[in-house]
Amino acid sequence: MWDESPKEECGIIGVFAPDEDVARMTFFGLFALQHRGQEAAGMAVADGQVISVYKNVGLVSHVFRPGTLEELKGHYAIGHTRYSTTGSSLMRNAQPFMIETMNGPLALAHNGNLVNSAELRDEMLHQGVGFSSSSDSEVMTMMLARDAGATWEDRIKVAMKKWVGAYSLVILSRDCVYAVRDPWGFRPLSVGMLPNGGYAVASETGALRTLGCETIRDVKPGEIVTLSANALTVTQALPPVSPSAKCVFEFIYFARPDQTWDGVNVHAVRQRLGEELAREFGLRIETENRIREDGIGDVVIPVPDSSTPAAIGFARISGIPFNDGFIKNRYVGRTFIEPTDSLRKRGVALKFNVIDENVRDKRVVVIDDSIVRGNTTGPLIKLLRQSGAKEVHMCITCPPITHPCFMGVDMGRFEDLIAHKRSVDEICKKVGADSLTYLSVDGMMRAVGRADGFCQACFTGRYPVQVDLMSAKTGFERGTK
Ligand code: SF4
Repeated sequence: MWDESPKEECGIIGVFAPDEDVARMTFFGLFALQHRGQEAAGMAVADGQVISVYKNVGLVSHVFRPGTLEELKGHYAIGHTRYSTTGSSLMRNAQPFMIETMNGPLALAHNGNLVNSAELRDEMLHQGVGFSSSSDSEVMTMMLARDAGATWEDRIKVAMKKWVGAYSLVILSRDCVYAVRDPWGFRPLSVGMLPNGGYAVASETGALRTLGCETIRDVKPGEIVTLSANALTVTQALPPVSPSAKCVFEFIYFARPDQTWDGVNVHAVRQRLGEELAREFGLRIETENRIREDGIGDVVIPVPDSSTPAAIGFARISGIPFNDGFIKNRYVGRTFIEPTDSLRKRGVALKFNVIDENVRDKRVVVIDDSIVRGNTTGPLIKLLRQSGAKEVHMCITCPPITHPCFMGVDMGRFEDLIAHKRSVDEICKKVGADSLTYLSVDGMMRAVGRADGFCQACFTGRYPVQVDLMSAKTGFERGTK
């Protein structure tokens, strides 16, 4: 398998800056959100009259060139980085979507997934509306063009009442940027004040800091935040759902460690995930009478990069020394050039090399953020054994993923998930580890620091919104954003 990580969702950004080159600012904001989607990038810029859009397949730095940015003139902008599933749909589904409406041009970029998009789409098809893509974001854009209301804010409010599921949005009219978050609060979205006047919104606070924002607040669940020449205004369009359903996977895997969400820093949570895991690992080994006089492991290594803070936390609590074991080529899998067959057979070895000296003759404890399909874990363990590791103990900083995500994260269908219908011991045997420890749901939530207010459905099967489980059994095209 080339890469089995859950696919990043999408990054969105919006900027209003009266005296700045907003296209260039949006570019650097997108650059800071690259980790949330590497398949396509796009931006829409408004100058008070017209909206210009540029989007293409590829990394942010490949899509935009100095000449491209110079043609995108204006003081209002939105941008998007996207993960997409199939080659043929890459360009069609790239965002922002832009349409001309009775009320002027409109562009939209979306992070999330509506669980009722099929019904909304059918309803619009029956009304004679055509679509150019399979994306629910286009359905949302068309609904805004169709819905009644005196202002864009009114029309957004009308549409929000019909949207069920995850949506953090940036919407651009000819003279405004709107930031919208669903009432469950699934995906993050924050707004900050720019140092030279104006405002920016982004999926992660790291992107806002890149632009120089200092005063930053979350766009709260159910809010519409409007960025315009007049001021920044906040409207509670829908009452927030209580408890909220923030995606806990943002903390485990997706977000960059410098992200602070709802006052909680991702890096700190990942260290605590490692600490909690160390306690549960120790308990498990003790219960199984595996503890020896010389301890329970010789070295703790992370699967880079997102597991590194957790491995540091694990080492601190367990007393087992931390070291690097894998070196990751960060750029493999982010190229459109397919490997030759003989290279493909090398599988994860193309992406990871082992530092033999750090694992040879050692009992190695490997910290990884998650196991989704399980295609990578076995080969990683094999690489360690080939490098002379005596024992390999896998420790995972979240519980087994037993259910698919319907809210915008591509984890595959039920049958794709290694933990669906398999016990931990069966998985351990399948991947060839000496032991396998998953963090418990309670341990995960202790690390996050809040008992409720989070979606944990991929671990528990308890979805915060009604979903069509059959669609994840029989297959469907997933609009992952
Ligand atoms: S199902 Fe999992 S990945 Fe999807 S929103 Fe919930 S916690 Fe996040």
